[in-house]
Amino acid sequence: MSALVNLLEKAASGGRLTFNEGLLLYREADLHSLGAAAHARRMQLHPGNTVTYVIDTTINYTNVCNVHCSFCAFFRPEQHQEGYTMSHDQVLARVKHAADQGATQIMIQGGVNPELHIDWFETLFARVHSEYPKVDIHALSVSEVAGLAKVDGLTVREVLVRLRDAGMRSLPGAGAEILVERVRKRISARKVRPDEWLGVMREAQLLSLPTTATMMFGSIETDAERIEHLQALRELQDETAGFTAFIPWYYVPFKTPLRGREATGLEYLRVLAISRLYLDNFPHLQASWLTPGLKMGGLALFYGCDDMGGTIIEEQVVHDAGSTNEATRRDLEALVRSAGFEPAIRDTYWNLRDDVALATA
Ligand code: SF4
Repeated sequence: MSALVNLLEKAASGGRLTFNEGLLLYREADLHSLGAAAHARRMQLHPGNTVTYVIDTTINYTNVCNVHCSFCAFFRPEQHQEGYTMSHDQVLARVKHAADQGATQIMIQGGVNPELHIDWFETLFARVHSEYPKVDIHALSVSEVAGLAKVDGLTVREVLVRLRDAGMRSLPGAGAEILVERVRKRISARKVRPDEWLGVMREAQLLSLPTTATMMFGSIETDAERIEHLQALRELQDETAGFTAFIPWYYVPFKTPLRGREATGLEYLRVLAISRLYLDNFPHLQASWLTPGLKMGGLALFYGCDDMGGTIIEEQVVHDAGSTNEATRRDLEALVRSAGFEPAIRDTYWNLRDDVALATA
């Protein structure tokens, strides 16, 4: 027992955990002690009472995808009668809707649609950027970037440079799932390999595009593979310091070909806490209320999280897998206050946006 206590003390004060130490804590430490250590570390990194959130929307511009992940209920294969691709005008109408509600960040993400070429995205991003210069385009995923490189015969770097020049401001961490070959072969065999995912992220970070990192846990991976995922991210962060935040969320199995079971709330909190402790070089840990719901989102603030993520005005991917959670800005702010913190609005780069009023006084 004292070995676990010593490890928790080391991690709570920012000491680096080895792989075996991380796995031991994840498996053996009691949840409250793990959470207390993660919260202590969070308070050390971000002293004070503030919990941030971003006003954003997610626009899923196409559901056509040639990757066919078995955990995904959102995509439709090419030529499927339910496949859709929005026109630029349709995307712009959604951007306007979000901007009218104060959004400072627009996430534009979809499937890997081989019909769409890089000029389609350049035109779209340039229009969004010129018509809504105050919103940040936080767009695409590693899979979509890699797909564009393949379709257009470009390098990943060329794709990223062209998208950045068109107005893209940051690359979300989607599509990481679990960065372990065995898992990806089972749940997303056609997706980019772990080293390719990390390679695209590295390129983006070297181009000064900030990025986030995610983990979708709860499909088929083992405890050790969860820690392997954290290890891979920590190593890249040591090299580039290009990740702003880590966002773990759990697999929603209800309408997917893979099926399976949903992770428990306790498992979610345990993953959050070990993530805060293991990723000693990540500035922020984000609560993902979209899958576990607002009540768990509130608890997450005591398990290492300092950020509530976004308002996600419009989102389809997790919704299609069976998640029905929604939240307004008022909901998020009330939740943060009920947990004893003060909400604050941030932008994509974690700058506080004092010029944007809170929804509640
Ligand atoms: S998760 Fe993404 S890449 Fe995989 S099938 Fe769904 S849309 Fe395509």
